[in-house]
Amino acid sequence: MLIDAARDIAELNRSRYGLRMYRMRALGLGLGAICVAAVLYEHTASPALWTLLAINGLVWPHLAYLRVRLAKDEPLQAEFQNLTFDAAMGGFWIAAMQFDALPSVLLAVMLTMDKVIIGGARFGARTLAAMAATCLASSAAWGFAFEPHTSYPVVLACLPFLAIYPMAIGVATHSLSRKARQQKDLLEKMARFDAATGLMNRQQWLYAATLELKRYQRTGRPAVLVLIDIDRFKDINDGYGHTIGDGVVEDFARLMKTCLRDTDTGGRYGGDEFGIVMPDTRWEEAIVAAERLRRQVSAFSFTGEGLHCTISIGLSEPHAGIASVSDWINSADGALYRAKAKGRDCIVVGC
Ligand code: GH3
Ligand code: MG
Repeated sequence: MLIDAARDIAELNRSRYGLRMYRMRALGLGLGAICVAAVLYEHTASPALWTLLAINGLVWPHLAYLRVRLAKDEPLQAEFQNLTFDAAMGGFWIAAMQFDALPSVLLAVMLTMDKVIIGGARFGARTLAAMAATCLASSAAWGFAFEPHTSYPVVLACLPFLAIYPMAIGVATHSLSRKARQQKDLLEKMARFDAATGLMNRQQWLYAATLELKRYQRTGRPAVLVLIDIDRFKDINDGYGHTIGDGVVEDFARLMKTCLRDTDTGGRYGGDEFGIVMPDTRWEEAIVAAERLRRQVSAFSFTGEGLHCTISIGLSEPHAGIASVSDWINSADGALYRAKAKGRDCIVVGC
């Protein structure tokens, strides 16, 4: 279930990422086009430039989105190419505006800021270089026309870009960082828990057992380690298939969880073997809890298909002869082995 959740989030994020980029590009280029249009109007620009601006500001965002959607194998690479193209076109418009101060600086800053946010400082520097190159080349073609004065109408035309785009970037960045946090939490969970059952995985559970043993060695407070193994689980796999076998494991884990006290720590030790660490518990009390679980399992109808199975259980209390968690596990495992040898579906206390 954890793996499914991770896959869903990754899938969802991929499709949302493309859509988010599309919206940001449509907004940024649309607002940027207003600034450029104000300058082109003042310069009574040629119809060719107006057409190019309309294409770049209004049509290109849709084409860019389409490019990413069609680049099935390398959508990220396509997006990064789109971003570089955006920057290069920014350089072209700065030259076309003859370096009109406010819209030129605005275009250069906004088009670099979003690249740094998306691809980091190095990508920002690369796109800035692309912007500078196209700016120089197109400015050279226009004989290095230089008219940096910004008129009041152009200042007004720049205000929407200045006010709205950084806000939109802030909102998008916040939402991305929240997503990253969620994914980090999920990854941490996946590293500690068994994906199929949601129980602690072997490593994490052994760590909990180690802490409990240390506590016993320090304070002398009792504890019990319980190992549980599903009886003749291979027969279930062979007779009903692995999917049903998986369902039995999941059902058993659910049953086991209902039997745990708040202070108990349950884990999947591996395959069809499970463990419970019971702090502040003597073996006599642990037997009562284990017997309750054994009975519940033998009466349970697994996978909703009337499938029945039993479990064998080995218990162990730490004592002076148990120096490490491996000793403790071996002691419970020996008891579990004896429970299997006794005919299964029973509990044995280790020594
Ligand atoms: P015993 O009573 O002696 O425990 O017999 P058993 O058949 O249960 O034997 P054992 O515990 O040694 O083998 C368990 C088998 O369970 C081995 C492995 O192929 C299978 N298994 C382990 N994990 C899973 C799982 O998550 N899903 C399924 N379907 N099978 C698993
Ligand atoms: Mg088994």
